[in-house]
Amino acid sequence: IHPTAARRPNYLTVQSENTLYSDDHITAKYVNRGANVVVSNGQFTVTPTFQSFEFQTKKSVSKTGLMMIGMGGNNGSTLSATILANRHNIVWHTKSGVQQPNYIGSVLRASTVRIGTDGVTGQDVHVPVSDVLPMVHPNDLVLGGWDISGFTMDKAMERAQVLDYDLQRQVAPHMAALGKPLPSIYYPDFIAANQEARADNVIKGDDKQAHLEHIRADIRKFKADNALDRVVVFWTANTERFSEIIPGVNDTADNLLVSIEQSHSEVSPSTLFAVAAILEGEPFVNGAPQNTFVPGCIELAERHQSFIGGDDLKSGQTKLKSVLAEFLVNAGIKPLSIASYNHLGNNDGHNLSAEPQFKSKEISKSSVVDDMVAANRLLYKAPEAGKKGKGEHPDHIVVIKYVPAVGDSKRAIDEYYSEILCGGRSTINIFNECEDSLLATPLILDLTILTELLTRVKYRKASAEQDKKEFMPLYPVLSLLSYMLKAPLVKPGTEVVNGLSRQRNALESFLKACIGLDTNTDLLLETRIW
Ligand code: NAD
Repeated sequence: IHPTAARRPNYLTVQSENTLYSDDHITAKYVNRGANVVVSNGQFTVTPTFQSFEFQTKKSVSKTGLMMIGMGGNNGSTLSATILANRHNIVWHTKSGVQQPNYIGSVLRASTVRIGTDGVTGQDVHVPVSDVLPMVHPNDLVLGGWDISGFTMDKAMERAQVLDYDLQRQVAPHMAALGKPLPSIYYPDFIAANQEARADNVIKGDDKQAHLEHIRADIRKFKADNALDRVVVFWTANTERFSEIIPGVNDTADNLLVSIEQSHSEVSPSTLFAVAAILEGEPFVNGAPQNTFVPGCIELAERHQSFIGGDDLKSGQTKLKSVLAEFLVNAGIKPLSIASYNHLGNNDGHNLSAEPQFKSKEISKSSVVDDMVAANRLLYKAPEAGKKGKGEHPDHIVVIKYVPAVGDSKRAIDEYYSEILCGGRSTINIFNECEDSLLATPLILDLTILTELLTRVKYRKASAEQDKKEFMPLYPVLSLLSYMLKAPLVKPGTEVVNGLSRQRNALESFLKACIGLDTNTDLLLETRIW
């Protein structure tokens, strides 16, 4: 069995007075170190800050279901077939030889974290990220979901044209056993008109309150039928147009609920699914770019303490951009323009060939360099005093074209045009060919598994009477998922971090904090000063 698919029953154990293991929980003390800065007359006065926390993680993983909206699409069918191939250890022949199933591309299953130094050899010790805390194994996810297309899952996989024929052939009976996705909500106004021909599996009527109740009942039934502790509801359906944010309609939780009762035209299918999951107390993740999480939806999640995460999977071009832009700006080089062209030929590309859906993708792709630019005011001028806006910014354009011939193999061409020393110029051109659904599938798995984990982590701030304080669940907007997302949803009013290395660092540091290990550091003093 390929190591990324291997089951490792034991997670690591930390021996420290700060980390306690009970039958049910891992409880760890953690000091959050920061710095408070006062800026006055161009002077910065910095005061280190310390805040003590305890994290408590429930050890037993939930029996978890993954309900995908858009289950019969390229991502949904590829993910289902991948899990089934791993679960049943299906090996297949390609023109290069025999291929094993695996989870390559999954941060949790195929990447490692440096956990310390070997006491004898002095060498770094790395462990799989999935060994740091108990996490659901992808093979154990119970699969289900909805699609407006009534293709059975084996036919949906065939239609997607993503996986090798020999794998499709062998996994088809297992896919067929998943049956047909549940009928879904279809409001033609939200996705491209070119999707209409697929929509033969829809919930009847136009009463949005009845649709909400229908989806809630689907979630409850799936949970009960499969004896699940947790259901992660995941939007991997077509990109919708943006919903207009209208005061009195979707700006507050109460207004949104009333708008659903009144079947207001601006409530999208994805927002209805999110509201259904929130009201059922199950997490909802949005893998597409539209603004599912209108302000009223976020408020509803806060009110019900129900977890949400989004938006839009960060699989290819944007992932690279969140590395390259960070590298250039941190190297003191000034990108003047970033021009990004894509063409793709799958159904997602077909849907994105309509202007309102393209707009959603363009918005999601365009803010990815903002925080890196804003962090370097040596290179980019800040907005003028008293004026709103981003200040000086590289020109940034995104073009997407539908080219059916290339199918699921997305081509992305990026030009980074930068200013270097004394007026010089540097141009970096990237040609990135990504097999879209094969990159997206591991991200959906990571997001689902991390989300389940984060529902099991609680915290409390240390204080004199700390023993009397209850452990609290984490804040509902799961910004720790940012690494896998193009336009990370964060707590309203807080800053978005787009740089990939910062996102990864946050995730690793959090996992380590939960077992009482310190934040990542590459200081390695023991190798440098004595
Ligand atoms: P796809 O078109 O193959 O699949 C989408 C599926 O959603 C289709 O089967 C369609 O019938 C279904 N659908 C549409 N509206 C629905 C509704 N209201 N309810 C239920 N089902 C509905 O697309 P894909 O390639 O699987 O991508 C899925 C989504 O993920 C897209 O929004 C895409 O933009 C997003 N995404 C994909 C990637 C990637 O790398 N593949 C990256 C980022 C984001």
